[in-house]
Amino acid sequence: MDALIKPLRPAKPSDAKPSDAKPSDMRPSEAKIPEGRPAELDPSEFLAAAVRADQPRPSRAEAEHAVETLLSYIGENPGREGLLDTPRRVVEAYDELYQGYHQCPAEVLNRTFGETAGYDDFVLIRGIEFTSQCEHHMMPFYGKAHIAYTPVERVVGLSKLARLTDIFARRLQTQEHLTAQIAAAIDEILKPRGVAVMIEAEHTCMSVRGVAKHGAMTFTSRFTGMFRDNPAEQARFLSMVRGPQR
Ligand SMILES: [Zn+2]
Repeated sequence: MDALIKPLRPAKPSDAKPSDAKPSDMRPSEAKIPEGRPAELDPSEFLAAAVRADQPRPSRAEAEHAVETLLSYIGENPGREGLLDTPRRVVEAYDELYQGYHQCPAEVLNRTFGETAGYDDFVLIRGIEFTSQCEHHMMPFYGKAHIAYTPVERVVGLSKLARLTDIFARRLQTQEHLTAQIAAAIDEILKPRGVAVMIEAEHTCMSVRGVAKHGAMTFTSRFTGMFRDNPAEQARFLSMVRGPQR
């Protein structure tokens, strides 16, 4: 059975306080009240790389030692032959799975084409596959993201939305936060007329541990701008997302 989590924190325009408006929030082409944004989604916190290059971190040797500790904790002997290289492999896997901390979402979306050539409908990228790690158990959840936005004047290369998804996915996440961050980043950087993001994912912390239910999918969605304000556009987005698979 599908678990359905529907719009998490529907943003209400009335939440927007004038003092929240930074110059970068202002859209040149429209005199619109800046959209309310949940307090935990301050774009300055996630549009840059999450980790500064000079930020002090434990050394690789310390990280490998921590893996040895976990091996001992589960009752293993970290010194046996099959496990000798395991701490190194685990830390290398972490470097890959969590590389999103060192990547900058704003950089990916800043390379835009200026020209919409009169295009005035939304652009939908359906079925962007991703794998992320849940912040509660550090276990994978994976699935597909569907992203639509309606450009005003800035259009982004199609692969960039997949890149953006990967940057946020390669950090510790909740599915709700991942959904909201993708939407907020596109909203903030491209200033489109609206963004719609839907994510469907299976959580291994639910399928292989805990209640151990395989195949349960969690759905999350986030709508801004015209998608939030216009139920007909939401419905059109959802029907295209659920439309016939190729
Ligand atoms: Zn979890």
